Amino acid sequence: MALIVQKYGGSSVADAEKIKSIARRIAAARDEGNQVVVVVSAMGDTTDELINLAYQIDSCPSDRELDVLLSTGEIVSSTLLAMALKTLGYAAISLSGAQAGIRTDAAHSRARILGIDPGRVVRELEKGKIVIVAGFQGITDEMDITTLGRGGSDTTAVALAVSLGAGVCQIYTDVDGIYTADPRLVPEARSLDEMGYEEMLELATYGARVMHPRAVELGEIYKVPILVASSFTDSSGTLIHGGASMEIRNKVTGIAHDPNVAKITVVGVPDRPGIASSIFEPLAKADISVDTIVQNASIHNITDLTFTVAKSDLDRAMEVVRPIAGSINARQCASDSKLGKVSIIGTGMQNTPGYAARMFSALSEQGINIQLITTSEIRITCIIDEARVEEAVRALHKAFELEQAE
Ligand code: ASP
Ligand code: MG
Repeated sequence: MALIVQKYGGSSVADAEKIKSIARRIAAARDEGNQVVVVVSAMGDTTDELINLAYQIDSCPSDRELDVLLSTGEIVSSTLLAMALKTLGYAAISLSGAQAGIRTDAAHSRARILGIDPGRVVRELEKGKIVIVAGFQGITDEMDITTLGRGGSDTTAVALAVSLGAGVCQIYTDVDGIYTADPRLVPEARSLDEMGYEEMLELATYGARVMHPRAVELGEIYKVPILVASSFTDSSGTLIHGGASMEIRNKVTGIAHDPNVAKITVVGVPDRPGIASSIFEPLAKADISVDTIVQNASIHNITDLTFTVAKSDLDRAMEVVRPIAGSINARQCASDSKLGKVSIIGTGMQNTPGYAARMFSALSEQGINIQLITTSEIRITCIIDEARVEEAVRALHKAFELEQAE
């Protein structure tokens, strides 16, 4: 008997009808002879609504209370799904993250899973039950409830798949799989049959919002194949794995984009050891994650340091950086909050020249100015004007002929 873990996102459990139809899909997986563990997100926009509610009461809610509040969203959907399965004649039980043995650190609102004690889940499976686990949450050693960060149910699902030794983790969502680009921007975008973990990680990190990057990372480390598929159709979805067929023929796999980029430039910085750390250490302490960092070659020992942050972090980042810029005698500290990024991603690009040139010329043909460029072995990212991001995605999709099946 195979053990599978399935995860259903918020849009798949948005109302009673959807919950009933998901229950039928789960029942079908059970009928095929599988043991089934299901992880659910909160119904629809519940998490946003709960956050909104909290802020109506307190402009600075305690993160402990907020985590308990938010964890209730997933509890609601898990119980309703267990009820729906019962009406279909299946034995099912809902478990909170804590009951499912998900132990985390105490970093409220962004807790990390330290380990899973799968005993209870295993016992319920052995009794023949379908186990429904509330996603996105866990419990600390002090028995405080934590949440794993927005979109964290994916992480719950992959972590459970790892700890239970499941053959596959199936992530069901409202799209047919992982596309070559966001199909809302590029009508010709194709859903991919398969891709490697590394590529998916870059795609997820650089703007494809289908899967949570932490979940992909877990899948990669523990070699759990992840299927991303639609909960509304029967299309086969995208299998993310590390198999032999990953010697990809199609060199660029996909285009990611993110309109949420702000840039800070510290102008006229003395070029001496310790300057970069004097800027980036306080930013790290303020929990501001910095993405692209570029330092110009220095002239007469003076250089410029540019980096990007999420738009929502810009004000806080400027508060941190401005006094430091003053204390290291930088000439100026400037920011631009109207930026976005586009990335081309593909393992096939490694050690193959010409991809960067093709990307830059596709952008220049559209008259799109590139402000910053960063690369990894399997990704090239350009920071550009926010208003040109969608156009850039379409131009790159075309330039790399992604509308054509391999
Ligand atoms: N409900 C949470 C959120 O909206 C977790 C999740 O959906 O994975 O972020
Ligand atoms: Mg959600």
